[in-house]
Amino acid sequence: MILKIVKYPDPVLQQPGEPVTEFDAALHKLIADMFETMYASQGIGLAAQQVGVAKRITVIDLTGGKDPAQKLVLINPEVIFREGKQYEEEGCLSFPEIREKIARAAKVRIRAQDQDAKWFEMDGEELLSRAFQHEIDHLDGTLFIFRMSALKRDLTLRKIRKMQREGTW
Ligand SMILES: [Zn+2]
Repeated sequence: MILKIVKYPDPVLQQPGEPVTEFDAALHKLIADMFETMYASQGIGLAAQQVGVAKRITVIDLTGGKDPAQKLVLINPEVIFREGKQYEEEGCLSFPEIREKIARAAKVRIRAQDQDAKWFEMDGEELLSRAFQHEIDHLDGTLFIFRMSALKRDLTLRKIRKMQREGTW
């Protein structure tokens, strides 16, 4: 089922996610729906807050659904190691049409549970590292506009307000 993606400034986007404790059929259904929703919007990552659920769940697929082996489910994830710097353009499904360069760690290692509660660690570089950091930020209630410079953020918020007035946001 394709879920509705909530857009900024919906308050749920800034609500830190509750840890997941029940790894049941309802969780598996939500994860399947999140993948379907993400693919329908051509995204490569989606956090539960973006479908209105403040829980520590995110799905990532850098292939956009082309390779099922690349599907990643991170439950209760945290960054346990970060190294280096990268500065690349990012977008967010909750900010349609907004793209800005964001400073991130070049490499990270994350620790997370899979959909059956099993803990694992995984390293990410470049785009995967950025996806890990962007999505885990969502689970903490942190949006990418707060990783921009104050000037870029003001310009972005102005652009959003203009689109809101025009009814295109
Ligand atoms: Zn996002």
